Amino acid sequence: MRPFLSHPFDDDKLKEECGVFGVVGVADAANFVALGLHALQHRGQEAGGIVSHHPDEGFNSARRFGYVRDNFTKASLMETLPGALAIGHVRYSTAGSKGHTQIRDVQPFFGEFSMGGCAIAHNGNITNATSLRRDLIERGAIFQSSSDSECIIHLMARSIQKNIPERMKDALRAVEGAFSVIAMTRTKLIGVRDPLGVRPLVLGKLADDGYVLSSETCGLDIIGAEFLREIDPGEMVVISGGKVESTRPFGQAKSRFCIFEHVYFSRPDSILGGRSVYETRRQIGVELAREAPVEADLVCPVPDSGTPAAIGYSQESGIPYAMGIIRNQYMGRTFIEPTEQIRNMGVRLKLNVNRALIKGKRVILVDDSVVRGTTSIKIREMILDAGAAEVHFRIASPPTAWPCFYGVDTPERSKLLAATMSEDEMRDWMGVDSLKFISLDGLYRAVGESKGRDAKSPQYCDACFSGQYPVAPSDQIAKGFEMKAAE
Ligand code: SF4
Repeated sequence: MRPFLSHPFDDDKLKEECGVFGVVGVADAANFVALGLHALQHRGQEAGGIVSHHPDEGFNSARRFGYVRDNFTKASLMETLPGALAIGHVRYSTAGSKGHTQIRDVQPFFGEFSMGGCAIAHNGNITNATSLRRDLIERGAIFQSSSDSECIIHLMARSIQKNIPERMKDALRAVEGAFSVIAMTRTKLIGVRDPLGVRPLVLGKLADDGYVLSSETCGLDIIGAEFLREIDPGEMVVISGGKVESTRPFGQAKSRFCIFEHVYFSRPDSILGGRSVYETRRQIGVELAREAPVEADLVCPVPDSGTPAAIGYSQESGIPYAMGIIRNQYMGRTFIEPTEQIRNMGVRLKLNVNRALIKGKRVILVDDSVVRGTTSIKIREMILDAGAAEVHFRIASPPTAWPCFYGVDTPERSKLLAATMSEDEMRDWMGVDSLKFISLDGLYRAVGESKGRDAKSPQYCDACFSGQYPVAPSDQIAKGFEMKAAE
């Protein structure tokens, strides 16, 4: 049975769409990739795939729906993926196939070229994919999947360059948007980041000639790899025979890393831009307590992603921290196909209020974001049912008022609560005693920009908060999406 993995109770969250991982220079590299993908599972739970290469066996691949731990732990499957070079991918879903993912949409994708095979795994979103795809199909390309990422393979097929890294450069120069790509040939592991470095990608080292590429450092930790550095925005690394060659195929541009990776997407035990994600989130709570104080008895996180910010809020405000809401860690595996009756129980299946603690208390709830606001209302109901005297929401990100087109699943703009209501209107609609979001400047301070956001030249991508898109989403504009007018 195909497991139900896009959680019905997580509908009110933005979702990272992919994680990528690759290993070269160790026996049974696919086993390392499986572990790395397991550590990156938070970036995509719908499906995963691994491609490996062995000099005698050639390229082999496996793609499966479901969690890595349920598929890529079986010896019978892993034995089919031999070799010292392997890459893998976990996905949520891509823009073209939401809700209808077929196994053919699951990456890595593979292409056989005159100079040999190449597999690629892509994290991000190609903002000109519709026009690229149309053009490629008109010129004879036969697509196997509905995924935008397959465009990269077809663009490589049309390049006249003599080797695969050069063909990748040609292909990626035609692509707009966000990409962190890991690729492999028979002998090379390749990693490349878009010129703005919107999505993360890091390089790690194993013993001897072993190297690793991973979306996040938590993927390195699980296999005992040493974190060497982040791949720079616009950089391509080609790793072979224990050597790492670096080139800059796209020219220089100012980094615009996704600031939401700090708030929510990345794991708290990862390191981003030299900073602990946990520490950044705790600092967001500190800033939030300074910007939006309120008298209360308890600070409680909305688990799990609100936890570090709630700790920071508590430390700065002096209001005691408490686990007022308990999360059922096993929810995702309990109901393979939830019935309508079970779905209607909604958030209660995943979160439960610690009644003994909450009764009669003025409670500050700290959450990472508000998207549609539907979950916030259910949590408010649960807290009041448990006898809370007051409910105050503090949100560890600014209002999410614009969709993301760079590899994060966002509802259309009209469904985003902050696109249609002011902060006070949201407070009234949610029926809470107070609601405050961290400011953009406060968020920038928390990620280490002591002077806050540079309005003329922002240091990060923050388009889902500011409406200022670092790369114009050309496919969306062609469909009628209206960018925010310049201020
Ligand atoms: S729009 Fe938001 S979620 Fe998307 S890349 Fe930019 S900051 Fe990240």
